[in-house]
Amino acid sequence: MDIIPHPLLLDIVRRVAHHGFRELGSLIASGPDFMAMVFDRSVLAEADIDEFVFVTFHANVDSIYRSFFLRCLECGNPDAQFVEGLRLAVAEGPSQLSVDLLRAACPTSIYARFSLGLILVCSGRYDEGMQAMEAFFSCIPSKEAAVSIAEMVLHQTATFRLPRSGLFDHTFVFGYELPHCYLNNNNVEDLCRRCFVYYFAIRFQELC
Ligand SMILES: [Zn+2]
Repeated sequence: MDIIPHPLLLDIVRRVAHHGFRELGSLIASGPDFMAMVFDRSVLAEADIDEFVFVTFHANVDSIYRSFFLRCLECGNPDAQFVEGLRLAVAEGPSQLSVDLLRAACPTSIYARFSLGLILVCSGRYDEGMQAMEAFFSCIPSKEAAVSIAEMVLHQTATFRLPRSGLFDHTFVFGYELPHCYLNNNNVEDLCRRCFVYYFAIRFQELC
């Protein structure tokens, strides 16, 4: 340890973190020097925490991984910002903190882009929500890809395994008229963008 320069060691730890946060466990256990490097801002900001993204209940307040997750969040890890933004919405309903976290994660997380639009629409902020949805659609190659991301966000929402609270039941508004093609279509890929948002927003509201 004494013969390898600290910046080089830190770079090695950063590369290990890119392979998944569980890889860091043995480094944390190996002693205070490596533990300090694992918890270095530059390591946690870009650590691979996909496991939290796809098994979202690991980020819940009663999870044994919560304190590690919060460290990643404090270091600005965009996947942590996405998961915490979504968790706050599901657990506590509409909030500016949830929106701010999702917005911060947007440049690197396509799930955050979709969730931001979805949660704004469900919070009664229709115009802002549709603007965020247009930004989401502009990053997506096809309607098929948009559907798979939207379905994943609903899966991530359900995977928190939080009890239904009905917190969005009275805030969800959808413009001034019922989405037209939603009423005449069975295939989600054939919906216009507005009806696409409506279809996923009512499903999100029902999950929360
Ligand atoms: Zn339509």
